[in-house]
Amino acid sequence: MNNIKIKRIINGAEEANCYLVVAGNELVVIDPGDESEEIIQKIDELGKMNYKYILLTHGHFDHVMAVNDLKKKFGFQVVIGKYDKDIKGLNAKFNVDVPQTEVDITVSEGDALDFGNEKIKVLSTPGHTKGSVCYLIGDNLFSGDTLFPHRHGRTDFATGNPEEMDKSLKRLFDLPGKTKVFPGHYEETTLGEARKYFN
Ligand SMILES: [Zn+2]
Repeated sequence: MNNIKIKRIINGAEEANCYLVVAGNELVVIDPGDESEEIIQKIDELGKMNYKYILLTHGHFDHVMAVNDLKKKFGFQVVIGKYDKDIKGLNAKFNVDVPQTEVDITVSEGDALDFGNEKIKVLSTPGHTKGSVCYLIGDNLFSGDTLFPHRHGRTDFATGNPEEMDKSLKRLFDLPGKTKVFPGHYEETTLGEARKYFN
């Protein structure tokens, strides 16, 4: 029933989580943040795949630095929340040289992308950045920097907003507690487990 395979690769100084997600012979990469050579090697180990999407949970540098290399090598389409499309601008205050990153598809609440026999459902979850989104594939939620195992992401960066974060978390916690959570940093959890840390 669950034909989705998920592999985590920890990237860069910020130890952001990049995920390779396979459904049938299709591959999506979530948040390739750094260390493109390692990611490329892990993708090559999967054998020939249909390289569908790079899904970005938001535009911060530690989630996007390997995008251009992967796109060039495999031809993925790059997907991001519409309000995070200006990746360079979003990172202006960080002391990091973020390359201009080409975006193919911008998404917002309720959008769905085909992926193997599954759908990738887009949940708009502003708060960490205005364009932050979570991707729900089956009962696997890729939560970016919106939800971590024991806390939510910061709201004090450019376009962050604590009230929107509260609303976004409420939304996520309306999903079933057994939903698996694959965050942008730290270990995987479930919504039921993560909910215990919030009032
Ligand atoms: Zn972030």
